[in-house]
Amino acid sequence: RSLLTRIQQIDPQLNSFITVTEDRALAQAQAADARRAKGENGALLGAPIGHKDLFCTQGIRTSCGSKMLDNFEAPYDATVVDRLAAAGAVSLGKLNMDEFAMGSANESSHYGPVKNPWDLSRVPGGSSGGSAAAVAARLLPAATGSDTGGSIRQPAALTNLTGLKPTYGRVSRWGMIAYASSLDQGGPLARTAEDCALMLGVMAGFDPKDSTSVDQPLDDYLAALSKPLTGLRVGLPKEYFGEGLDSKIADAVMVAVEALKKLGATVKDISLPNMQHAIPSYYVIAPAEASSNLSRFDGVRFGYRCENPVDLTDLYKRSRAEGFGDEVRRRIMVGTYALSAGYYDAYYLKAQKIRRLIKNDFVSAFAEVDVILGPTTPNLAWKLGEKNNDPVSAYLEDIYTITANLAGIPGLSMPAGFIDGLPVGVQLLAPYFQESRLLNVAHQYQ
Ligand code: GLN
Repeated sequence: RSLLTRIQQIDPQLNSFITVTEDRALAQAQAADARRAKGENGALLGAPIGHKDLFCTQGIRTSCGSKMLDNFEAPYDATVVDRLAAAGAVSLGKLNMDEFAMGSANESSHYGPVKNPWDLSRVPGGSSGGSAAAVAARLLPAATGSDTGGSIRQPAALTNLTGLKPTYGRVSRWGMIAYASSLDQGGPLARTAEDCALMLGVMAGFDPKDSTSVDQPLDDYLAALSKPLTGLRVGLPKEYFGEGLDSKIADAVMVAVEALKKLGATVKDISLPNMQHAIPSYYVIAPAEASSNLSRFDGVRFGYRCENPVDLTDLYKRSRAEGFGDEVRRRIMVGTYALSAGYYDAYYLKAQKIRRLIKNDFVSAFAEVDVILGPTTPNLAWKLGEKNNDPVSAYLEDIYTITANLAGIPGLSMPAGFIDGLPVGVQLLAPYFQESRLLNVAHQYQ
């Protein structure tokens, strides 16, 4: 109840919620109380959380931040929603996001931009900007997000949170509305690594309903937190410290490096030579997959339908033109073009080959080091509207995060202090299924 009041008082300034589910939350909280009274004591039992509005929730609107799905109520819960509810977590509602998770500023939402709680004139990052703002403003202790190219880690960095993108296949995508299926992965945003460990322990695990879910046992994420870092080999990729990085952020990363050394880590310079190709390759692959995934929104089966269509083609065209925002339409056009006969080999196939090179870079690097450390973002939170007319400059903000999605490896952003009153994040990357190592390092550092 106290958080519901806080949301009522504070969220009008932030716009982090699309839907607050007060009645359902109170019912879930009562059920959690009853379980506790019977002697149950799971860490998430009664814990208030929120879901990014692309996780399907039965009987509650799941909008994906789009006019297209403004009227969509899923007939089922996403696996992530289901698992957290079964663990007794109390969902207070659905959180704002960039439309169909496309963006790095949470400005493309049909429900309006989200503000950064540290400075209301700035963006909170995206696309999980609502999740980040709500947790940073203490409206919730933890929230779910999704990360296709950085959408958990980047907003976590810009709002002083810990955000984890698990290994591709670790968290079920069933019921999570797809942006780019080979890159999308759900994960937690919270204040600390410990809270992320609690969330991940419930969210992760094999799900037969997701064909890319991996059937491999979970680590004990909580137990891993306390391991000392003695002997940990940390790699610093030289490509992460080049042109485009705010020098104050570079300094903040070096402070983190010194702190890890004090905790017993050794540091080594490494190279990820194909990183320069990551943005062009991602911005072919992600829109290509999005153009295919979003073809289902045709005005017939789901969501928005235009008024008075004259025929079927008019219905498709106008429903899609009116239902999708500018950024989504831009990506559908780019993706459709890249996949078209005659261009497929030059763009899509080439991008897939680069993706393999990027993956190989990580495999080689992890033969020498246990984790890779660098900045999460090249810049601090920017002013609302600053990049609206320049999509490419927004795409460049993803430079350090998208490689983990292309390779499928896990990545975590942790708070690393403030510059001029704005939060800075440091990113850790680890080999496949080493989420426990990321959480361990972040916990020891925090
Ligand atoms: N900013 C990236 C994009 O717009 C990443 C988004 C995401 O991870 N969902 O595609």
